[in-house]
Amino acid sequence: MIKFHSTNHSTPDVNFKTAVLKGQALDKGLYMLNQIPKINQEVIFNFKDLNLQEIAFQVLKIILDQQIPEKDLKKIIKNALNFEIGLEKITQNDYLCHLTKGPTCSFKDFGARILARLMEYFLSIDKKNIIILTATSGDTGGAVAQAMYSMSRIKVIILYPKNEVSDLQRKQMTTLGKNVIAIGINGKFDDCQKLVKTAFADEELEDYNLSSANSINIGRLLPQSIYYFWSYSRIVKTMDEKVIFSVPSGNFGNLTAGIIAYKMGLPVERFVSAVNENDEFPKFLESGSYHSIVPSRNCLSSAMNVGNPSNLARIFDLYGGQIDENGIIIKNPALNDLRSIITSYSISDSLTKETIVDFYKQYNRIIEPHGAVGWAALQKYHKKNSHQTGIKSITFETADPAKFPNEIISLIKVEPKLPKSLENIQNKEENPNPVEITKYEDFKSFVQNKM
Ligand SMILES: *Cc1c(COP(=O)(O)O)cnc(C)c1O
Repeated sequence: MIKFHSTNHSTPDVNFKTAVLKGQALDKGLYMLNQIPKINQEVIFNFKDLNLQEIAFQVLKIILDQQIPEKDLKKIIKNALNFEIGLEKITQNDYLCHLTKGPTCSFKDFGARILARLMEYFLSIDKKNIIILTATSGDTGGAVAQAMYSMSRIKVIILYPKNEVSDLQRKQMTTLGKNVIAIGINGKFDDCQKLVKTAFADEELEDYNLSSANSINIGRLLPQSIYYFWSYSRIVKTMDEKVIFSVPSGNFGNLTAGIIAYKMGLPVERFVSAVNENDEFPKFLESGSYHSIVPSRNCLSSAMNVGNPSNLARIFDLYGGQIDENGIIIKNPALNDLRSIITSYSISDSLTKETIVDFYKQYNRIIEPHGAVGWAALQKYHKKNSHQTGIKSITFETADPAKFPNEIISLIKVEPKLPKSLENIQNKEENPNPVEITKYEDFKSFVQNKM
């Protein structure tokens, strides 16, 4: 059975169930696989004959290594991945992969929906209930709320900054009801985050089984490897064909999942890690020294405004290094090995905008800010490696353009079409704010009296 260790190496190894229900290790490290299982190259190539759910089953089965019976795992996947992925050929060799067809039109639906069902499954074995606390600046809240909606052993409390989320983002959280409670705060994302952290550290709330569902949970990370295998298997023609992946990166969960797929045997030519003006990672790859960016820089691709990505701890771990939660390097990773598989570019906001405009002009298609960062980074990579011809690439589009109507309209004068799932939300009734919170005590007594 594959065990999981903390990237800070100061707590005992755990099984998958404990890693999922705990979320973060007690020493503040992230849980990581003790070994990466391999999938045979021929098996990977033959994924071309399987659909998304079947590939998900093959990949997760080998990682989870019998920690969930096969029929239960199949059910979890069937319920979680009840949507498609879009793959669009843009040029001769460059593809855009739309991970945006889930209920909240964000790629976060993949991880969040599988995590929700893994948690519910493990909780029912333990006959326990939990309360998930999530602070959100907008997008994560919606994905987590939708994913956890109507789970019987999970309640979700989402804290969001009332005046800093879009109408659409707020409605994704406030129109659900049932086990989902969304609380608007007069403040910023950091204030929400602080309330959550204080609650986690509050011993008087221990009996409420508070837990988190952010991207540090290994149960949210591993399912993201699936779409690397899926997209690869749709486009290659021979067994040893390698592909370039361009990955819009913020907290680096997406890229980490890609590296895990690569280490499992997926033939990858290179990962292009595309970041916005928060350029701590490309600077680290170049120089070998790491400086987090505090506070993080505000860019158009807002979900990628991260100045000290949590999942760097996992990338270091995969390459024999160690970095703690504060961004202090304890042990250097094998830097040249990292450089041989990852190239990282920082894309400015002005180039992001230019890319959105050019992409529309050239291909008559709309790309949103996060995907545009990925596409722009791919162009930089192509320019530097013009000798490489005939290698296929996949750029991930991580959100639907309709989530950023104002930016898109101002750049290309076209209104992106609202997908069905977002259109439905627009007409739904919002639940009123359940409590006014001006200080931590207000939040605490809400949890104690209402949950
Ligand atoms: C969260 C998010 C990202 C960044 O993904 P990471 O896994 O944190 O690197 C990129 N794009 C969108 C739209 C997101 O919501």
